[in-house]
Amino acid sequence: MGDCLFCKIRDGEIPGEIVYENEHVMAFNDINPTAPTHILIIPKEHISTLNDLEDNHKQTVGEIFIAAKQIAAERGFAESGYRTVFNCNGHGQQTVFHIHLHLIGERQMTWPPG
Ligand code: AMP
Ligand code: ZN
Repeated sequence: MGDCLFCKIRDGEIPGEIVYENEHVMAFNDINPTAPTHILIIPKEHISTLNDLEDNHKQTVGEIFIAAKQIAAERGFAESGYRTVFNCNGHGQQTVFHIHLHLIGERQMTWPPG
């Protein structure tokens, strides 16, 4: 997608602090972190919203969550806990339309979210 911010980070056209990458997914620091760790994990394939997921995305979605738990373990906050969030469309407050899992950790969360 020509004007997609996260496709541009994937392609190196916009700088990103890449913290993890494999064949299917990439992870980089959120530019406006809400916790000591706030990482966005994206599929390399452009998928605009969760509503656009198809059966052939099952492996990629699984890889996103495996990446999240690996990063949490490597950084030592897997046991203390963390939050993972996909926002979808307007009521979900999605602002970048290339799906991304927020991995937020190293502080106490509250519930319910706003
Ligand atoms: P969402 O509201 O779920 O779509 O989240 C979009 C996230 O992308 C927000 O947490 C932003 O801080 C983050 N973001 C926006 N621009 C950039 C960028 N250039 N690099 C890294 N993260 C970004
Ligand atoms: Zn994209």
